[in-house]
Amino acid sequence: MLAAVFHKDKGKDTGKVKLEEVPKPEIEEDNQILIEVKACGICGTDLKILEGGHPANDNTILGHEFSGIVRDVGNQVKDLIIGDKVIVDPNEKCGFCEACRRGLPNLCSHLATGTTFGIFQNGGFANYCVVPRNSIFTIPKEMDLDSAALIEPLSCAIHCHNIADVRESDNVVIIGAGSMGLIIETIIRPHPLKNLICIEPDEWRAQKALELGADYIINPTERNVKGEIEKITNRRGANVIIDAVGISDTFEMAQKIWAHGARLVCFGQDDRAIAHIRPNDIVRYQRQILGSYISTACDFLDAIELIANEIIEIEKLITHQIELSELLTKGFELMKGRQCIKIITNP
Ligand SMILES: [Zn+2]
Ligand SMILES: [Zn+2]
Repeated sequence: MLAAVFHKDKGKDTGKVKLEEVPKPEIEEDNQILIEVKACGICGTDLKILEGGHPANDNTILGHEFSGIVRDVGNQVKDLIIGDKVIVDPNEKCGFCEACRRGLPNLCSHLATGTTFGIFQNGGFANYCVVPRNSIFTIPKEMDLDSAALIEPLSCAIHCHNIADVRESDNVVIIGAGSMGLIIETIIRPHPLKNLICIEPDEWRAQKALELGADYIINPTERNVKGEIEKITNRRGANVIIDAVGISDTFEMAQKIWAHGARLVCFGQDDRAIAHIRPNDIVRYQRQILGSYISTACDFLDAIELIANEIIEIEKLITHQIELSELLTKGFELMKGRQCIKIITNP
């Protein structure tokens, strides 16, 4: 079968993806499922892996946002049948570590050992993938499998939304209208909110943020962000800030625009970022800085319902659809050009 395989550069963290013929995987353990992959989204993480900004295992099939159809089940699997439509939670949780038992499965210590499908174990940029039953969610028969490939990123946006805990009277600021910033926007937008403001320098992305319902867009390279936020919020500042970028500049920007009692949710990840902070600004105005990391099984269930009930307009988020064979020539190039939200590949 055709697969997109990551090959690490010798002695470095960077690497290349090659499209190559590999053997079709088979079930080796009784709790496993063989999935015929029907759709797999391209994630910013896939590019970060190539650039050395995210660890990954050598010789691994990438793709961690995928949906498909059950084609074979192990002996222990009694509740799935061939032909069921499914999606995969790529982050395998153990269920018995301290974090899992404290109800924080997204912080499962098993994740730190490098097990994510499509990053550390073979994933969805291929015709077939084998995953354990634990990592699979069934989806309704009627659900289209391209939309279903968005369930994983949607689950992360839902997790962020729940941590942000927005109120109808809040001024909400999303920093960064990349694909995750925009998906978070679609989850938060159904709240009436005082104002929903996006900070984004790229014109195409800013336009998308407007189409998805932002009340205001601020280009930080052309405008004074603090001054603009003061104008829009009548000097109150932002009650909720979601940093969907995660670099030093955006973290420090957030501290210039936060209201008294504000919640700053750190969502975007960059291992290299180091930022300044004034602890007294947190104490004196009782502000909160919160992290939002991947998602829980419940977030997956919520994401499935949002799509099944057509609460969000998924067709606005899928901007491109390509064949797996076009992943390198078209997919990654579109990602680098930044004029896309979700690109779905069909193996
Ligand atoms: Zn992803
Ligand atoms: Zn665990």
